[in-house]
Amino acid sequence: MYDVIIVGGGLSGLTTAYHLQKQHISFKILEGQSRLGGRIETIFGENQTPMEMGATWFGKEHRNVLGLLSELSIPFFEQHTEGIALFETLSTEKPQSYFTPSNTHSAYRVLGGTGQIVKALQEKIGLENIVLNCKVTQVEELNDGLKISDSGGNAYFSKKMILALPPQLAAYAISFSPELPVELSKIMQHTQTWMSGSVKFSVEYKTAFWLENKFSGTVFSQSGLASEIYDHSHFEDGKFALKGFLNGSALHFSKAERQAKVIAQLTHYFGSDAQAFLSYNDKIWNDAFIDGHGPFLPGHHNNGHPRFAKSYFNDKLFFAGTETSPAFGGYMDGAIIAAKATSERVLASFKK
Ligand SMILES: Cc1cc2nc3c(=O)[nH]c(=O)nc-3n(C[C@H](O)[C@H](O)[C@H](O)COP(=O)(O)OP(=O)(O)OC[C@H]3O[C@@H](n4cnc5c(N)ncnc54)[C@H](O)[C@@H]3O)c2cc1C
Repeated sequence: MYDVIIVGGGLSGLTTAYHLQKQHISFKILEGQSRLGGRIETIFGENQTPMEMGATWFGKEHRNVLGLLSELSIPFFEQHTEGIALFETLSTEKPQSYFTPSNTHSAYRVLGGTGQIVKALQEKIGLENIVLNCKVTQVEELNDGLKISDSGGNAYFSKKMILALPPQLAAYAISFSPELPVELSKIMQHTQTWMSGSVKFSVEYKTAFWLENKFSGTVFSQSGLASEIYDHSHFEDGKFALKGFLNGSALHFSKAERQAKVIAQLTHYFGSDAQAFLSYNDKIWNDAFIDGHGPFLPGHHNNGHPRFAKSYFNDKLFFAGTETSPAFGGYMDGAIIAAKATSERVLASFKK
């Protein structure tokens, strides 16, 4: 029997495990997908350009991200913003342009991609402490611990467990025996999962040709399929890309149609060089590992609710995950804050 089972191998689950490991607590991470990282997913293009399908930016106010990067010796750099940015209201009118100085929003990115954090945590934790393709469907309280079952019929036993996945998803995808308190269940169902349903795209190029005409790569469009576009290059490594968000209508198009529309849009802004792309990728964040198919909720609704700071099943069941964080809920910083607080709570419960 493990001391702790952590459900979810995203940033919060991995950081929780990292803290528990330092305190010599035995644990297993059960991750439903064939990869770690959850809402952090860096992919690599034809030219090995790192491109983020998920979490990308952080600021100087995100002290927990900065602290973790420093502890794991992972470098970061400023988002490129300098140059002409475009704002397009109607497809029939020329986009308005304005000059943006260097990094006015003070946004930073991880060198080599946000996935470097996941890779470093995985190396610290050890693959032997992680089970992939393990989608948890049931949790049963036993006298001396918990029985946790997955969709493949496997059972895992632990003294305590931590749910490190979006609470709304846990409410709809996992059955609990006995049932969780009604009030808690309702709050879980009504906790918004940050970025669920969003659509990210990236286009990789041989050169940052947009810079030659003094464009920064930043575009906001109210008429095109791509609603936000940003430079996504790693200049020092000679790797270049544009990336951003597609609007909700993306769901109605095939990937080939989305690619054609995005390339046409980039050509409209930056010229025919936009057609010579090395790779196009996009991701719709609506799969079974983020979307609980619960009610639609406003952004960050119930994030950091005090109920998530309590334990359940007689001090055996705890919550982590960014949506449970009292600060920066939904963001990477919140995932790390929740991991720290929850691992401390679990440690204290062992000492009782
Ligand atoms: C498109 C997008 C852009 C973003 N941009 C930014 C950004 O720029 N800056 C920022 O700070 N944040 C950003 N975020 C948010 C950031 O990614 C999250 O805050 C953070 O990664 C959440 O980590 P987490 O561990 O709490 O949750 P998740 O990353 O969601 O991890 C939960 C894990 O649980 C697993 N899981 C789910 N169900 C089960 C199950 N039944 N059994 C087992 N495992 C299960 C999932 O597969 C997943 O790996 C973005 C997110 C997205 C999707």
